[in-house]
Amino acid sequence: MMFKSAKINAFRTWGLLLTMIGMGLMVLGTAGIVFWGHSGKILAAIGLVIGLIAMVGSLGIYFWAGMLSTSAVQIQCPQCGKLTKMLGRTDRCMFCKTILTTDSGIATITAEALEEELSQQSSQG
Ligand SMILES: [Zn+2]
Repeated sequence: MMFKSAKINAFRTWGLLLTMIGMGLMVLGTAGIVFWGHSGKILAAIGLVIGLIAMVGSLGIYFWAGMLSTSAVQIQCPQCGKLTKMLGRTDRCMFCKTILTTDSGIATITAEALEEELSQQSSQG
């Protein structure tokens, strides 16, 4: 899923993952004090610091994804017809995961050709 999704969705997934890891580490660090007493405090401190860094990092990723999505181009997916957002020259459709590109040099099929192919398929079926 991480490799087969639109870039914006992938950023959100990573942001969420980092938040979970950060929170988990903070909880574990705090639990360390309860279970190991005084010696657990060092562990708790390390857990809190790493947890905090992870959460700040996830915030950064969320912020970055937000910035990127404002500059993303909204296009209609030629495969499923839904409106999707595209980052960079090549990205996947958020809905059907089709690889889309604005670079005609690396495109294997044009939107027109795809439309033709789809209409042929529907007329056959
Ligand atoms: Zn699509």
